[in-house]
Amino acid sequence: MDFESYIRDIEDFPKPGIVFKDITPLLKDPKALHKACNVLCEMVGDQKVDKVVGVDSRGFIFAPLIASKLNAGFVPVRKKGKLPYSTVSESYKLEYGEDIVEIHTDAILKGEKVVVHDDVLATGGTASAVCKLVEKLGGEVIQCNFLIQLTFLNGSDKLNEYRIKSLLQY
Ligand code: 5GP
Repeated sequence: MDFESYIRDIEDFPKPGIVFKDITPLLKDPKALHKACNVLCEMVGDQKVDKVVGVDSRGFIFAPLIASKLNAGFVPVRKKGKLPYSTVSESYKLEYGEDIVEIHTDAILKGEKVVVHDDVLATGGTASAVCKLVEKLGGEVIQCNFLIQLTFLNGSDKLNEYRIKSLLQY
């Protein structure tokens, strides 16, 4: 399937100068949605997976679908202050300032095999912080899995200790 034809470029979103990859045309198409979910699962292969971690907020779209198909649990990582139970946090640098992501302290057990999923890998700051959260809880990141990798932003440099897979590369 030509997944690229379902991704729409939005210029100057969310800020002037940024070309945003909009995945909603893919999500609204029943065949593209189904097929993308299957390919994201195939990218994991036959590795044993205990948890699929989805990243706030577009990572929440496919991560539970992948988790369900792989017979794994789904774990949300959210921006600071959104999770109700006790959390561990990790901060990461943005172009201006910093952001903080959090995970519930009981979300992952020591030794569990974890796939980290987000819609887009850009600079890699977010995914790298998420992997650190998983490791703080004793989980093992067996793969970082993305719908889209913006290779020109070199996000994989921040994730060089992990196996990275993406369905589409730009
Ligand atoms: P990074 O931390 O790798 O620079 O940015 C990745 C995060 O920003 C992801 O959570 C992703 O959802 C969001 N993101 C950055 N650029 C885009 C984009 O062009 N399209 C979409 N859908 N998300 C983006």
